[in-house]
Order: sequence, then structure tokens, then C-alpha cells
Amino acid sequence: MSQTDSPNSLKSRIKKLNEKTVPADGACVLYVMGRDQRVGYNHTLLAAQKHALAAKLPLGVAFCLLPQTGFRAREHYEFMLRGLKLIEADLAKMSIPFILLVGDTVERLQSASTHFKPAAVYFDFSPLVGSRKRQNEVARRLDCPCYVVDTHNIMPVWVASSKQEVGARTLRPKIRHHLPTYLAAPEPIKKHPHTWPKRWFTLHDIQTNIRSSVDVQKSNGQTELQNKWPSGEKTANASLNDFIENRLKGYSTNRNDPAGDNLSRLSPYLHFGQLSSLEVVLAVYEAVRADSSLQADADSLIEEMVVRKELSDNFCYYNSNYKSLDGAPQWAIKSLKKHEDDPREFIYTLKELELAKTHDPAWNAAQLQMVKSGKMHGYMRMYWAKKVLEWTENPKQALEYLLYLNDFYSIDGGDPNGYVGILWSIAGLHDRPWVERSIFGQIRYMNYNGLKRKFKIDAYEREWLGLPGI
Ligand SMILES: Cc1cc2nc3c(=O)[nH]c(=O)nc-3n(C[C@H](O)[C@H](O)[C@H](O)COP(=O)(O)OP(=O)(O)OC[C@H]3O[C@@H](n4cnc5c(N)ncnc54)[C@H](O)[C@@H]3O)c2cc1C
Repeated sequence: MSQTDSPNSLKSRIKKLNEKTVPADGACVLYVMGRDQRVGYNHTLLAAQKHALAAKLPLGVAFCLLPQTGFRAREHYEFMLRGLKLIEADLAKMSIPFILLVGDTVERLQSASTHFKPAAVYFDFSPLVGSRKRQNEVARRLDCPCYVVDTHNIMPVWVASSKQEVGARTLRPKIRHHLPTYLAAPEPIKKHPHTWPKRWFTLHDIQTNIRSSVDVQKSNGQTELQNKWPSGEKTANASLNDFIENRLKGYSTNRNDPAGDNLSRLSPYLHFGQLSSLEVVLAVYEAVRADSSLQADADSLIEEMVVRKELSDNFCYYNSNYKSLDGAPQWAIKSLKKHEDDPREFIYTLKELELAKTHDPAWNAAQLQMVKSGKMHGYMRMYWAKKVLEWTENPKQALEYLLYLNDFYSIDGGDPNGYVGILWSIAGLHDRPWVERSIFGQIRYMNYNGLKRKFKIDAYEREWLGLPGI
């Protein structure tokens, strides 16, 4: 394991989006922050700063707030904005301005660039279609080199594999092979010596229209989210410490039990990039060095947060059908089609599901846990999704309902992990065919008796259905 990040590993994270040359009047370097909303452990910020230092130019960080996404709730925007506000203060200490642009990303960046005249632009990598399209369009319109940097994954998605992987089984050895090269902290960001001209600030509606932009988002009623999930890089780091001190021991055996909530609880911070998964892995290895009995727990976390998480990015990067049944493997598509008209004992409307009005107390508890706390237990997420396949008219409708519910109510929603988790649950993605049965065909089945056999599911139900304990 290397101690400091090598220049080659940073280089391998960067991809050029266009073939433009540096303009003679290039006046700054711009980092357009997206999926990685932090200052520490941020290779995109580091790459942009290295470029700016070499060219003796000021460095600015821009963030584009989309006016209306439609599928995420207002409360998730507010979580994000609270984190960004803290980033602004941290960057100011480094003499790097934070510029919030509200509106259409391509147009706002194009007009900002006519004022700032960037010599180069750096973006955070995301495998999702919308951000890739926007970044490519900006790269086409601007007259300067544009780059994308993968600082979300421990190893860049294009290094881990050059193709869509069949499943964890085929990606795991590739990840193991590359892991030692990437297990090192990036250099920290320096105070930037080239100052951003003051007159540039006045040209932009920095921090204006934010409230009105957030207010147009629909609320999901999670008014307690602010207390439940405090936002920001420092809080994310404190959550990591809390996990290592209080829940890493026993993680491999306890994490599946819905009644225990002994998961890491890091997904909201990982989703918004307030925490780097690389930092998590390094901290967990440090804990193992101090106490070797934690090895099995560390291995279990690596399996989830490296193999499974990076498998999700692999799928969304190489298959743009991540929100469609067309993204499922052929055996699953065929099998679901064959059973599409099978009679269903229960069919629920979206409203009934949203209000947790089904006959199944465990399902209702899971739905209410997501609605009330912003995050459903990981084990219940699988059960929850599979039951929606069982209780809707067809798999297409199940997928549509699941995408809406997961993204609108889960604070970590809108994530490749969510799209892959849903397709795994209802369409056999990264799984194998199981014994054929009605509705599910060969998709892996889960039932209530299984929950009862494995866990004290009644304790979980009592907690989230608001029933008194025994
Ligand atoms: C139907 C369904 C929907 C899901 N929706 C989301 C979602 O919207 N956002 C999201 O981040 N995850 C989602 N997952 C994956 C997983 O359930 C969550 O990442 C996990 O429950 C988050 O809680 P935690 O951080 O406490 O998890 P832990 O179990 O402690 O895991 C640590 C980290 O590992 C990663 N991880 C864990 N399980 C998985 C998995 N199965 N696939 C990929 N990465 C994983 C996550 O980054 C997680 O934060 C979904 C899974 C299913 C089956």
C-alpha cells in the first residue's frame, strides 16, 4: 500500500473532454464541483489547483444549482446547500472563491466563462447520463480544455474495468488488483497564491435566487431531516469516526439486522460527496492496524463500499439504461415477460404504497422508516423493492414507482447505487436465475417468513409503525 498518492494515479483519474488548446487570454482555472462536495480528499480540486499553480493563475470553484430537477425533494436540496455553505467558508481560507450559479448548467457556465475566461475547466465525474451530457456540451461550447476527474470512486471507473461487468464476482478481482495503487491520501489543497480579481464577483448573481430556486422543489415532508442528518464535510468526518468507534466492531455480523440499525449510516455523505470512500477505507485500515480482530468487519465494509458501490458506477457508466428494464440481463427480461400476466393477489396504487397502506407490517414499517428518517435499512430495501414487483400491475409499473419513491424520499437517492439496487431487486441485475415462480419468474424471491426467521422483525415493525413495545 503506498503512503502518498503517486502523480500517475492522479493522472489516471483525469479524462479530457475536448481537444481545445489553452486560450492566450486564459485568466483562471475553474473547478465545476458536482458529485464531490468536499475540500479534503478531492482529486478534482487538486488537479485544478495543480493546473492553476503551473500556469500562475487564480483558481475558482463553481457549483451549478439546477432550478428544477423534479425527482428530488426540497429537503435534499437544503441538506446539500447547508454543506455547500460550509465549503464556501473552507475554500475562502484557501483564497479560493466559491461561485454558486443558478439555472441551466450549460448556459450559466457559458456566460460565466465569457467573464472569467478560464484557461481550463475541471468537472467531477458522474456516470449518470444528465451530467455527462451537460459536461460534454460545455466542453463543446467553451474555448478551453475541459477535463473530468473521477474522485468519487477509489479507482477511476475506466481503470477498474473497460466494460460492463456481469456482477460483483467479475469486478471483485479487478478491484483487488488495482486497489493497492489507489490506497493513498491525495496531497492536501494549498492556500492559493494567485488571487481572484475582486471585480469578477460583481458580474454574477452569486447566492441570489437560491431560495426561490429551492422553493420550487416539492417538499416530501421530512421536516426533521435537518436534525436527523446534519450536513457538511466536518459532520461527515464525525460520522465516519462514530462508525469506526461504535459500529465497525461486529459490522460483518450485525449489518443485516433491520432492528439493529448497525450499518455505517454513511450513504448520505457518500452520495453528496461530503465524504470520500477512499478516506473511509484508509480510516478503516488504520483501525484494523490497531486492532486486528476488526479484519472481518473491514472486509465486509470493503465488499459493500468498494466492490458493490463501484459496481454500480460500472453499470451506469457502461449502460445508459439504468432506469429501464432494458438494462436488465436477457434471461431476466425474458422471464419477467413470461410472467407479466400472472394473477396478483394484491395490487396497490402509488398513493397506497406511498402512505404505507399495504397488508404487510414489515413493508409498511420500511416505507415509513424511509419517509420519516430519510433512509431505509439496507436489508429492508431489497425486500421493499421485491414486494413492489409482486403488488403492481407489471414490472414496468413497479420500476416506475420504485424510482419515484426511492429518489423522492431517500436522502441518498438519485444515486447509481439506487438504480442498480432496484434493478437487482426486481430485474436480476448482477444476479443469477433462481427457481421459477409466479410473477417473479426466475428473479430471486424474498418473503415475510424469511424476515421473521432471521430477525426480530416485530421490533422493527413496532419502532416504525409507532406501536408500543412489549
Ligand atoms: C432497492 C434498493 C435501493 C437502494 N437505493 C440506494 C440509494 O438510493 N442510494 C444508495 O447510496 N444506496 C442505495 N442502495 C444500496 C444500499 O442499500 C445502501 O447503500 C445502504 O443501505 C446505505 O446505508 P449505509 O451507508 O448505512 O450502508 P452500509 O451497509 O454501511 O454500506 C456502506 C456503504 O457501502 C455502499 N453500499 C452498501 N450496500 C450497497 C449495495 N447493495 N450496492 C451498492 N453500494 C452499497 C454504500 O455506499 C454505503 O453507504 C439501495 C439498495 C436497494 C436494494
